Amino acid sequence: MIRLTVWNEYRHEKKNPKIAEIYPQGMHGAIASALAKDADLKIRTATLDEPEHGLTQEVVDATDVFIWWGHMHHQDVTDPIIERVHKRVVVGGAGIVVLHSGHFSRIFKRLMGTTCDLKWREANDREILWVTRPGHPIVAGLDDHFVLAAEEMYGEYFDVPEPETTFLISSFTGGEVFRSGCTWQRGAGKVVYFRPGHETYPTYHDKNVLKVIHNAVRWAAPNAGLKSPTFGNRKVGWIDQTK
Ligand code: ZN
Repeated sequence: MIRLTVWNEYRHEKKNPKIAEIYPQGMHGAIASALAKDADLKIRTATLDEPEHGLTQEVVDATDVFIWWGHMHHQDVTDPIIERVHKRVVVGGAGIVVLHSGHFSRIFKRLMGTTCDLKWREANDREILWVTRPGHPIVAGLDDHFVLAAEEMYGEYFDVPEPETTFLISSFTGGEVFRSGCTWQRGAGKVVYFRPGHETYPTYHDKNVLKVIHNAVRWAAPNAGLKSPTFGNRKVGWIDQTK
């Protein structure tokens, strides 16, 4: 059983009727309901405007994998919550799957330690996502590429530490390219970045996009029996030196 918390800023959907039409239950609702077909997932959702952004200590402690979508209001996520999620990933070994404009979220920047900046354009670019790590669990079930008819463009240079795995690269109508699927280990936890998902497009209804998110959640989940690391002073005598 993987305990998944799908976190979304959830303000675009409340303010813009066109976005609400695409995502009547919010982007978190669309993702959660698609993944609910997997009986191994215990899914909850959390949003920015809930108390503690829906990420109380209890919720965070009971989360094996987070999905994170944010865009306009990254700065509204408060320090104690960032600290709490960061610790849960790095020390607790939880996974986090950061989507699209979550590249600028405070939690992703904290985990990466770089600006996480990139180029962008909203001009209905066609996006082709090419598999660059066949055999990796996150691309299981995909063809060698898939196409999104219209998306926001993100272009290199993407200022992140060199990924440990780059499993997808995108090309766009305008000629730009982007490392759209990347993984890193941070402490005991696994981090995935997956690019698509601008709020004005029905991207989180696309079967290939949902497949990648689903695979990413399963990949990022802590290994069974993971023990949190221990730190601090170690007294002499913890092991019998005579044996
Ligand atoms: Zn966007």
